Amino acid sequence: MRSSASHSEAEERITIGAVKAQVLERAAPVGDRPLRLVEREPPEPAREEVRLRVHVCACCRTDLHIVTGELDLPKLPVVPGHQVVGTVDALGEGCTRLRAGERVGVCWLHWADGTCQYCRRGQENLCEHGTFTGWTADGGYAEAITVPEDFAIHLPEELDDLAASPLLCAGAVGYRALRRAEIEPGERVALMGFGSSAHLVMQLLRYWGCEVYVLTRGEGHRALARELGAAWVGAADELPPETCDRAVVFAPVGELVPVALRAIRPGGTVSLAGIHMSPLPVMDYGLLWRERSLRSVANVTRRDAEEFVALAVEANVRAEYEMYPLDAANDALAAIAGDSVQGTAILQIS
Ligand SMILES: [Zn+2]
Ligand SMILES: [Zn+2]
Repeated sequence: MRSSASHSEAEERITIGAVKAQVLERAAPVGDRPLRLVEREPPEPAREEVRLRVHVCACCRTDLHIVTGELDLPKLPVVPGHQVVGTVDALGEGCTRLRAGERVGVCWLHWADGTCQYCRRGQENLCEHGTFTGWTADGGYAEAITVPEDFAIHLPEELDDLAASPLLCAGAVGYRALRRAEIEPGERVALMGFGSSAHLVMQLLRYWGCEVYVLTRGEGHRALARELGAAWVGAADELPPETCDRAVVFAPVGELVPVALRAIRPGGTVSLAGIHMSPLPVMDYGLLWRERSLRSVANVTRRDAEEFVALAVEANVRAEYEMYPLDAANDALAAIAGDSVQGTAILQIS
C-alpha cells in the first residue's frame, strides 16, 4: 500500500511525451556541426531531484570547449548547456524545497557532495566529487532537464527568462572573477576580451563606480563596450593608457596574461575567468614582482550565482542577446567561435 506522501508525490509527476535534445556523441570541430537533434524519453528525476521544462538556455564559451573536445569528456553522449531557466514539472522522491510550477535556474555546478574538505570550507566550486551541468551531467540544450533540487537557483520575478539565463554562468563566473581580482569600488579595471561574461560584469563595475578599460578584438565588441561606458577601448594586445588596479582576462588566450600583468600596478591582481586557456608564454619574473597576484577562477558556487542575480537586479544589469531556436544550437556555437555574437547567444526552447 502506498503512503499518502508518496501518493501526493506521484500526483505531482506530470507525464510528458518524448522531448527534443541536442546531443553530443563525439567531439568535433564546430564547423562539422557536432550536436545532433534527437527525440528521446524525458529524464525522470531521481531522489531529491526535480525535472524542469526548459524555457531558455544561454550558450557559453565552455559549451564550445566541450563540443570540440578541448575539455575531457567523461560523459558521452552528453547534452550541453548550463545556463538554464525552466519550470519545475516533476518532483523526485524526498523533495522538500521546490514545488511544481516554480521557475528556477540551473548553473554549471550541478551538484557538490557538501562533505569534502573544500565544501566544508565554503569552496563547493572545488568539490572533490562535484558534477557539472552540460558536461558530466546532461544540460539544458533540451526541452527537459533534471537537477538536484538544492542546486536549483531561485530567480527573482524582476528578471524574465532571457534576462536571467546569461546571469547563471556568464554573470556568475564573471562575478566570481571580479571577487577573485579583489576589485574595490572606484578602482580602475582592465577587462581583456569582451564577450558574454565581460559585458555583464562591466555593468556591475560601472555601478560600483569603477573606471573600465576594455581590450578586445572585433569592432562589434568594442562598440558595445563604449556603449556600456568604457573609459577606453583598445585592441587585444594594446596597453591601457592608465595603469590599472586590477585586470580580468576573459579571453581564453594565454598570451594575454603578460599583457594583463603589465597593465596593473604593484600590489594589483589579475584573475583569469576562463575554464580553459591556451598555454601561458614564458614570462619574466619582473611581471609578477612587487606583489602582483595572478589567480585562476574555477567553476562557481551557488552563492556566486545567487549574489550576482540579486546584484544584477539592483544594478539593472541588462544582457545583450541573440536568440536561436533549439535546432540551431550548432549555429549558435559557430557564432560564439567566430566572435560574432553581441553579448550572449540564447536558445529559445519553449
Ligand atoms: Zn565537496
Ligand atoms: Zn559557462
